[in-house]
Formats: sequence, structure tokens, C-alpha cells
Amino acid sequence: VSDPLRGPGSASGPASRPDRLSEDVSGSDVEALLVTRLVNVEYLTGFTGSNAACLVGPDIRTFLTDFRYADRAAAEVDGWNVEIVTGQWLTGLARHVSDSVPGGRIGIEDDHVTVRTGRLLSEELTGGAFLSDSGGMVEQLRRSKDAGEVAAIAAAAELTDSIYAELFARGLVGRTEADVAGYAVGRMREQGAEPSFTPIVAAGPNGASPHAEPGPRRIEPGELVVIDMGSKLDGYCSDCTRTVATGDLVDQAGEIYEVTLKANEAALGAVAAGGSATEIDAIARDLISEAGYGEQFGHGLGHGVGLEIHEAPRLGPRSEDTLVEGDVVTVEPGIYISGMYGVRIEDLVVVGAGGIADNLSSHPKALTLVD
Ligand code: ZN
Ligand code: ZN
Repeated sequence: VSDPLRGPGSASGPASRPDRLSEDVSGSDVEALLVTRLVNVEYLTGFTGSNAACLVGPDIRTFLTDFRYADRAAAEVDGWNVEIVTGQWLTGLARHVSDSVPGGRIGIEDDHVTVRTGRLLSEELTGGAFLSDSGGMVEQLRRSKDAGEVAAIAAAAELTDSIYAELFARGLVGRTEADVAGYAVGRMREQGAEPSFTPIVAAGPNGASPHAEPGPRRIEPGELVVIDMGSKLDGYCSDCTRTVATGDLVDQAGEIYEVTLKANEAALGAVAAGGSATEIDAIARDLISEAGYGEQFGHGLGHGVGLEIHEAPRLGPRSEDTLVEGDVVTVEPGIYISGMYGVRIEDLVVVGAGGIADNLSSHPKALTLVD
């Protein structure tokens, strides 16, 4: 996988990303979509600079950036009509949009454009062109990962798995949470990756907080330690959580681990194209509730992962998503007992064709004792 961001686009291959977007725009109520969210611009064009936009319609493929990025655009952006905006950025964008789609309805990514930017852009449009809220179109396209993207995510997951093995071989007892997190990040960087988010290393009572930040607390014997981390490699993220024990566990900690593992495995078994996000969430949630810990599983079951660590779709009680082939999602049930400990077990799964889901997280899940 030389360049997963460029994706397929050859004349004989599957439709390119801009072509797929163009098809979606044709079927929508706007004549063109102005993409200003950088991660979406990068997904569509391969451009990695910090200021750009693109306008996509049935017959429009325009990439816009400013003079600072003229060289980078020439090197990275292929198959687009490249416009270098001079002068004020929003004014230039508005001028280009007004000229390209005279009097047209222009979709904007209203889930990310600020109210102020939307207003300024709207005021600068001429000739009757006007803005319409069309957020989420590129995010929906991004859900279906192609083979190159899946390979990039799988490589990031594999790297993360190898770092779990190193962390546990190195030992946890006596180290601080911050030391363990820092070591993991260092190992990612030494291998050409970045953390896809600040790792969570939460021992004992800190594990009861799903978003604990690693701190100076030393890991003691006989605790549960929740470690949630992911690598970002070639632009693509991975995400995995393992919970281990540093010795014999007190009261029902072991039972809670087994309930969480059962919920994780039952939900994994239900991940397939056509599956309802709420139903898959409910499989895990019902098992946890039946064991008496429903109130202690206070977050959704999972989320999509790709260029961003959290993206579409969502698996949760209020999600309206249905899984499609190419979705890459986490399955991460957890039980959090305030003041005592927590357990979360998170795998990363690709939704394949014909009801097959492929688990990219291979680090073992049976409760492991780590000194
Ligand atoms: Zn995670
Ligand atoms: Zn996650």
C-alpha cells in the first residue's frame, strides 16, 4: 500500500472518491458541494497542507488553495482543476463558487463551518448563488474503506498489538501510568507512527473513569489496569483497549472482567453488513444489564475509525446507522465501578462482504496477569 490516501481512481478500477461524491451531489438538492473540512479535502484530493477547499458537482472538480501551497498542490493534487486564490481567502472562494455555479444552491459542511464563516461566505456570494446545509456527505463516503485503507488501518492495529505485548513483557507494577503511556508513545514514534490519541493508562480506581488521563499514580499489585491506545500510520488510525490484572483481584473484579469479555465477543459476533447499530449495541448492553451492571456501562458500544479516531458510524443506543461493507468500527463494552476499578475491552473490526467481519485486534483477551 504505497499511498492509501489517494485511493483507487484508475479508468478501469472502481469509481474514484471525487466521482463517488459527484454522484451523491447529483442525487442531492444542491448543485455543488463546497468541501472545506481539511480531513475531507485530504481524503478527496490527497492534499496535506493546512488551507484548501474543493468544489465538487456533476461537472465540477475544482481544488482551491492559496499561494503558499501552489507547489504542494502541484505535487499532491492530480486530476483536479487547481485554482490558487489570491487576496482574501473567503472572498476568493465566494468569487469562484459564484462563477462556477451561477445562481446555484451550494452545499456547505454546516456541521463544521462556523456560523461566522458561513455568514461571511454567504455575504460574498454574487449572482444569486446561495448556501445550503449539506454536512456529512464526505463523512458518509469515508465510511466505506477500500482495500488500501483497510491495509493501512490493519498495519496501525498490528503495531499497536505489538506495543501491548512489549508493555506487558516490560511489566506494570511500580511504574506510573504516565510512564507506561509515555513508553507506548515513544515506541510508536520509533516505528514511524504517531499516537492516534493520548493513550489512556488507568489503574485501580482511575480505571472507573472511561476517559482517565495517565498520571503520576504508581500501579500497585492486585489491580485492574485499563490501557486504551492506538497508532496512526500513513494517515490512518487504530484503536484498541486491553484490561489486565496485576495480581489476585479483590471481590467481583474478575467477574466483571468475564461479563465484559462476554459482551465484547457476543457483539463482535453480530457485526455484519446490514446490522443495526442499536441492535449490536443492545447485544452487549443486555448481557451487561442481566449481570447487574447496566448502569455502569455509560457509553456507546463503538465508533468508526479511519483518518479520524472517531468517525461515522456510531454503535450506540441512539444511533440510526446500519453497518455497510467497508465500515471499520470498534466494539468496546466497559463496566466502571466508581471509586474501585473499571474494565473495557475494545477490538477494531472491518465489516466485509457476505456477513464476514474481520477482527484487526489480535492481542489475546483472556484475563492476563502482568507483574
Ligand atoms: Zn479506544
Ligand atoms: Zn474507541
